[in-house]
Amino acid sequence: MAPMFEKVLVANRGEIAVRVMRTCQDLGIRTVAVYSDLDHRSLHVRIADEAYAIGGHTAAESYLNTEAILDAARRSGADAVHPGYGFFSENADFARAIAAEGVTFIGPPPEAMEAMGEKIMSRRKAIEAGVDPVPGSLDAAESADDVIAFGAAHGWPLAIKAAFGGGGRGMRVVNDAATAPAAFDACRREAQSSFGRPELYVEKYLTWPRHVEVQIFADTHGNAVWLGERDCSVQRRHQKLIEETPSPGLPDDVRQRMGAAAVRVARATGYVNAGTVEFLYQDGEAWFLEMNTRLQVEHPITELTTGIDLVEEQLRVAAGEPLSFTQESIQRRGHAIECRINAEDPTGGKFLPSPGTISRFSRPGGFGVRVDAGIGVGDTVSQHYDNLLAKIVVWGSDREEARRRMQRALGETVIDGVVTNVAAHQAVLEHPDFAAGRHSTRWLEERVDFSTLAPAPPPTTAPELAHQPAGSATAGPARQIDVEVDGRRFRVRVYEPDTARGPRPAAATARARRRAEAAGARGAGQITAPMQGTIVNVQVAVGDTVEAGQPVCVLEAMKMENQVEADVAGTVAEVRVRPGDTVGGGDVLIVITPASAAEPDPAQ
Ligand code: ADP
Repeated sequence: MAPMFEKVLVANRGEIAVRVMRTCQDLGIRTVAVYSDLDHRSLHVRIADEAYAIGGHTAAESYLNTEAILDAARRSGADAVHPGYGFFSENADFARAIAAEGVTFIGPPPEAMEAMGEKIMSRRKAIEAGVDPVPGSLDAAESADDVIAFGAAHGWPLAIKAAFGGGGRGMRVVNDAATAPAAFDACRREAQSSFGRPELYVEKYLTWPRHVEVQIFADTHGNAVWLGERDCSVQRRHQKLIEETPSPGLPDDVRQRMGAAAVRVARATGYVNAGTVEFLYQDGEAWFLEMNTRLQVEHPITELTTGIDLVEEQLRVAAGEPLSFTQESIQRRGHAIECRINAEDPTGGKFLPSPGTISRFSRPGGFGVRVDAGIGVGDTVSQHYDNLLAKIVVWGSDREEARRRMQRALGETVIDGVVTNVAAHQAVLEHPDFAAGRHSTRWLEERVDFSTLAPAPPPTTAPELAHQPAGSATAGPARQIDVEVDGRRFRVRVYEPDTARGPRPAAATARARRRAEAAGARGAGQITAPMQGTIVNVQVAVGDTVEAGQPVCVLEAMKMENQVEADVAGTVAEVRVRPGDTVGGGDVLIVITPASAAEPDPAQ
């Protein structure tokens, strides 16, 4: 059979670019990578058949540079473009620009992206399709008064959300009328700065929901089906960490109703290709949350339970072929779980980004284990892109088998050079609430105690250094070595004082800060960057008086804004950074002369 396309350009990077290229190559389709200056040696470039430089470092300079990508498409002669997720995947203008070149955009029609890209409009579309959205407004909230009126009528808490928001950003939870004005202003500012659009709206904030989403697929021949749901309730900062299918404990009649509702929403928007309709489920009821008009990060769990390669199906549908399955022919088997392995330090539940260079990567394997990674040894994880390194996906004949298999797979996983969240995944997988399926979207942040996680080992290039399993509370970093005693092999963990190894600035700073916090201590007034990143704004000037804990600047790394706070009360003596500056972990940003400079500093 002739392949549906000759050559596909993947307008993305990281694990999703690799994942899309693999299916293309399975189908005999040539693959084209585009890459930023920082990515010239990345895995997606190494596995592509051809690669074109698009320049730049930041996303805006590279993977969001339409002209550069169009130029690569022309030079390569690609006949289709796959956008992956993120970047341009839900950008109607980009899809139109690709089509104008006579190249196929592998995704939905631009009109469907527009209808679902704006949350107020998508809520109206859901209602048109006979599906109830989360109770809330169908018009933009113009002022804090609108928010207060909504709270008075429907009760608190509520969520103020950016109409053009996404990626877990642009949302504020408000508990009462008194805090509504400040929350409204902060949300509007964030909406404008992050999404370029200030429009906000209000929704009831559900306090113990499950995030359950439905994978749909539609073709250009009028067929639209759903392929099961995914439970994405293990979240931090309203962002997904672990996904599974089927959703534990979801009654089958609810599942069927959600599937049918998702298909109706897709039909109401004239949808074509792969899409996801998200719901919040609480107390036996499911409400429409939003629709994502692209392939999702967590699509592999649907692939493992249905046996369908969703990227292959995307290619077919984009080429004008009918769906290769019907609603009746889709069979779901067993249970699948995905853990997102991020370069982030979960210590104390903070999940701080951790850029660096990968010095070791041992992948798990065995029956029912799939690893979709975007990195290899020697690759640098940049502060400019998101921090997803790899996805570990397992299949089991039932949930318990899948859960145990994931624990085994996590135990085999070793990534050195950056701090990862593997230990946090282990803590979740072994938690009785998760095992019993009693969790919700609030659960991880409210109920899981990350204070017992070992401090993250400092990134290192030494091959004998392995990661620390969950629950091994130690004061300093640990080193694992293998020894033989009487011919029997033992793994020994050796604890060293913090000073015994050359400190990496960010890790050293994080440790110092943790120690300071533990002691309820005051810092020395040298405010350092907790990680490599870019300064977004500076909130103090030389001569200002500051309180301990007062925000002094915002540092962005890996799409996450981190508020940097004064560690001591005093007067600002020096401001060493400006917005736009790139700083390294441990760099001194601001110097404060402590109010009582004579007091000893217990953190030192
Ligand atoms: P984004 O587009 O940023 O992903 P979503 O609207 O999809 O934002 O919401 C992301 C997450 O935020 C949800 O999975 C859920 O955990 C939480 N959330 C969003 N809206 C509500 C709400 N009304 N009540 C409770 N939680 C919510």
